Amino acid sequence: MHKLGIMGGTFDPIHYGHLVAAEMARAEFNLNKVLFIPTGIPPHKDRRDISAGELRLEMVESAIQDNPAFTSSAMEIEREGPSYTVETLRLLRKNWPDYELYFITGTDALREIFSWREAEEILTMIQFIGAARPGFDASDFLLKVQKEHPEILGRIHSLEVPALAISSTDIRMRVKRGEPIRYLLPEGVRQLIQQRGLYAE
Ligand code: NAP
Repeated sequence: MHKLGIMGGTFDPIHYGHLVAAEMARAEFNLNKVLFIPTGIPPHKDRRDISAGELRLEMVESAIQDNPAFTSSAMEIEREGPSYTVETLRLLRKNWPDYELYFITGTDALREIFSWREAEEILTMIQFIGAARPGFDASDFLLKVQKEHPEILGRIHSLEVPALAISSTDIRMRVKRGEPIRYLLPEGVRQLIQQRGLYAE
């Protein structure tokens, strides 16, 4: 069976931490492709604080263009209403029938998974890769899984990604304060941020 990595995230903006996480996951789990899916309307966030989906997708497309294993999808951005991961996964299972699905996201996001819509259903559908910042301790989350859902423990994987010391929040704050962001993200993304006047006051 082939393996498809799904990079789920807001990507506001995408940066080298995300790209390194996707590439490390691809290599470690032998993923044939990694599909970046920027969240349309995050169910758990105030949408006014988030850049337009089209802009976030444009930045993702620019960032991944030189990696033949990486591709992107506008499916969540084009879908009406909040972007529930369970709906995305159902569609992906239909569109990629010969692929085992690996959902890659930040460990901080993953530890909230029990509050996601149809969490039980999601947990039976796919494998999870939690990309962790250096020093992040996932033991409390794994203990909770072991206690409450031991059957899925084997499907939750953790990946320490030193480059995740970079964060989208920090990049937005830097732009706002007029500080440099060069080398934290691909140059094409930096230029898009500048051209579109993103994150400035
Ligand atoms: P978030 O709360 O913005 O991010 C949590 C942390 O994880 C941040 O530190 C973030 O760093 C990092 N992160 C996010 N995506 C990452 C990725 N793909 N690889 C590595 N690190 C990542 O989380 P989010 O981006 O809104 O949501 C993550 C995914 O979970 C999305 O696909 C979202 O749709 C899904 N989700 C679904 C539900 C639901 O179905 N009800 C609820 C919540 C989340 P940066 O800020 O630097 O990115």
